[in-house]
Amino acid sequence: MLRRNVPKTLGMGLMLVFALHFLLMFYAKGILQKLVLGDLQKKLYLPPSEQNGTVMERLSHLEVDLLHLRERMKLAMKQPKDVGDTLARVKDEEHPVQNAVQAKARGFFKQKPNKLLFPNSQLFKQWGWDLPEAEQKEAEDLFQKFGYNVYLSDQLPLDRTIPDTRDYRCLRKRYPSQLPSLSVILIFVDEALSVIQRAITSVINRTPPPLLKEIILVDDFSSNGELKAYLDEKIKLYNQKAPGLLKIIRHTERKGLAAARNTGREVATADVVAILDAHVEVNVGWAEPILARIQEDRTVIVSPVFDNILFDTFKLKKYGLAADGFNWELWCRYDSLPQAWLDLHDVTAPVKSPSIMGILAANRLFLGEIGSVDSGMLTYGGENVELSLRVWQCGGSIEVLPCSRIAHLERHHKPYSLDLSVPLKRNALRVAEIWMDEYKHMVYMAWNVPLQDEVPGTHNSSRHTSGVRFIFIILSLQMKKLKHRVERKLFKNSGIDFGDISSRMALRKKLNCKTFDWYLKNVYPVLKPINSIVGYGRMKNPLDESVCLDQGAIPGNSPIMYHCHQYSPQNVYYHLTGEFYVGPLIAERNTDDRCLTDPGKEEKPTLEPCSKAVKYRLHIHWDFKQGRAVINRATKRCLEMKRDTSGGYVLVLQTCTTQVWTIQYTVGNWGSN
Ligand code: UDP
Ligand code: MN
Repeated sequence: MLRRNVPKTLGMGLMLVFALHFLLMFYAKGILQKLVLGDLQKKLYLPPSEQNGTVMERLSHLEVDLLHLRERMKLAMKQPKDVGDTLARVKDEEHPVQNAVQAKARGFFKQKPNKLLFPNSQLFKQWGWDLPEAEQKEAEDLFQKFGYNVYLSDQLPLDRTIPDTRDYRCLRKRYPSQLPSLSVILIFVDEALSVIQRAITSVINRTPPPLLKEIILVDDFSSNGELKAYLDEKIKLYNQKAPGLLKIIRHTERKGLAAARNTGREVATADVVAILDAHVEVNVGWAEPILARIQEDRTVIVSPVFDNILFDTFKLKKYGLAADGFNWELWCRYDSLPQAWLDLHDVTAPVKSPSIMGILAANRLFLGEIGSVDSGMLTYGGENVELSLRVWQCGGSIEVLPCSRIAHLERHHKPYSLDLSVPLKRNALRVAEIWMDEYKHMVYMAWNVPLQDEVPGTHNSSRHTSGVRFIFIILSLQMKKLKHRVERKLFKNSGIDFGDISSRMALRKKLNCKTFDWYLKNVYPVLKPINSIVGYGRMKNPLDESVCLDQGAIPGNSPIMYHCHQYSPQNVYYHLTGEFYVGPLIAERNTDDRCLTDPGKEEKPTLEPCSKAVKYRLHIHWDFKQGRAVINRATKRCLEMKRDTSGGYVLVLQTCTTQVWTIQYTVGNWGSN
């Protein structure tokens, strides 16, 4: 029976063992699960409620939980402080070293502070010392691409508050209840989406809704992918809240900022247009002073006052009130406030200004009547001065409004141009040709561009050359002349193509505009044109034509011989009256150019402010003809160069030997004999 029952008993026993085994496994798995999860919960700070539920449920949710946790931890690493608290964050970033130490003390760093991966990057001078390395890399890449801190911008609230930078007296101003309607135009090329959205948000939140008719975005052919469908999506969302408020126009090729501003004005429909960069945040009460002033006078073009959004910390830097001006290269700059304005003793009064910086507001129709912005200005620069001269010379005026303030992001570098001086030089010549009459030579000279009659290379000295070298020089001179003649046909006389200006000249005639002489005398007397310059450009000595006369270190007043380059520290201007200006051409009433001076006894020449030199009877007058010696009229010493111990050349003043000099460009007949 037993024998007969053996297989049955064995089978049942085996089943029991299996069952026990299975139960044991199940139990052990549960214990293990609890242990692992309990530990994870402790490590990952899961709320206690997460501990409930069956093991199977936990297993199925484990992966999802871990994913969520990974995201949360990533975010926690990204946002060491509360990013909503912009000011606190920015304050922290003012003291990066202290901040890093404090962060360590707070236990933010597990072991040691992060290594600064880009110690020479301008992005990490004031900011980002506590970022993990991967984030540093991400922030630096974005910074290189956009020229500002997109990594930080993406974390800051779109509707962040910025300090109200108006004078308290602006708050007492009252404006008419009926004001004109406003189109805000934001132009951009390859800006960060969060920056554009913050500009839009600031306009929506800080402009009285009944006055804001539309916001027009003009995309000047960006290559940045997120500015396409993603931006369109955002626009749809804005328009769901306020139908028709946002519009976008996209250029199908890069046209430059002047054309982008025009495109915006052309599609605008409100009474007034405010044409802004897309990296701004308008401040409280920015629109009312603009609309009220243009309502009073439709021919006034106005500019708000700018504060600077720092490109690294995005903190606001308040700027003082100033007039907008420019130098002879037509670079914009801030000028001191006009005396007539100071005499008013009213800090809220509009400041009459020779120019605008670029951003502007105007009566839409008036701006159209006077020719909008010159779309012939390419890429960047000069269009602001062109508009300013046109407005003043053709019957309008320009004002800066102290109670209207806009925060503007000044980039570290531009994503669309490596060297802004290239488009600015070209555009400056265009302005000079259209508007500056007999004073246009000042722009050519400031940019070191030849005037019409000169042929480059004719000043080359061939006095002390051997026969073979002589033939070579003559041949290369003929080649240069030929090339120049072709260039004159293709690109005007200067070798720079500033485009067709005939329609702008016709406009000037049609509008019956005043002269640049009138503008200088009545609007911008700070600029002081000079008519005595007869030679300019690089000053070389045939002993070694690879080095040029150079203003030397600034601060400092010791001219040097330095490897020739194309920048203004090597500009030299020789006057018929005998002065040599060295360095960038200033030619202004309140600031002196620097004159080459023979101090009398010492071996080395110096550079002195010219009027100071005249006052102290220093020796600033020199006899010079093209390809001849440079001789001080008073001391009779010659400007020469000699080798120093390191093998380079230094400038000396000494009894004349046979050394001669050439200057790059000559004016009129000077230097022809
Ligand atoms: N911009 C443009 N097309 C260009 C160059 C610039 O639309 O070819 C835009 C740019 O995105 C910015 C505005 O023009 O919104 C002014 O340029 P930027 O801010 O570089 O000049 P800045 O304010 O520094 O003088
Ligand atoms: Mn800008």
